[in-house]
Amino acid sequence: MADSRDLCGVCTLRHVSKSSIVWCTECDEGLCTECQEHHSLSKSSRNHDTIPVTEYQKLPSDVLDISQYCKIHNEKYIIYCKKHESLCCSDCIVESHNECRDIVKLAEVIKNAKSSNAFYEMEQTLVEVLENIKKIREKPPRQPENIIKRESDN
Ligand SMILES: [Zn+2]
Ligand SMILES: [Zn+2]
Ligand SMILES: [Zn+2]
Ligand SMILES: [Zn+2]
Repeated sequence: MADSRDLCGVCTLRHVSKSSIVWCTECDEGLCTECQEHHSLSKSSRNHDTIPVTEYQKLPSDVLDISQYCKIHNEKYIIYCKKHESLCCSDCIVESHNECRDIVKLAEVIKNAKSSNAFYEMEQTLVEVLENIKKIREKPPRQPENIIKRESDN
């Protein structure tokens, strides 16, 4: 399987194989020179954080793994709630973490990992977050029934 991280996500949609030069942590896809230019100008993506693809590839897989999609809402996880020890997408926040104050932005975790030379040099809180995320993965929490139902009538 070709690593989709090496290809521009936008161009792939148009059935063109172009190498990506940057990775957008918000869109969670690679962008080629042209597309990244458009991406940096377009109103909806102007404020997105992008990192060189070469840097992205160097990130520990634990960090890459946190940019996943919420299985309940099919939205990208954006924060980690320390209180509930769970990853949350924007819908999760609205539904169940509105009152939570102890949250960590995943984009920041990624940025931090990127600016540290080594994983263990990362801020302790972020390391903790990653550890917890790993634990969550190993033991998937049981989903409440009503949420499962909601998911299926989409
Ligand atoms: Zn492109
Ligand atoms: Zn983006
Ligand atoms: Zn969610
Ligand atoms: Zn919470």
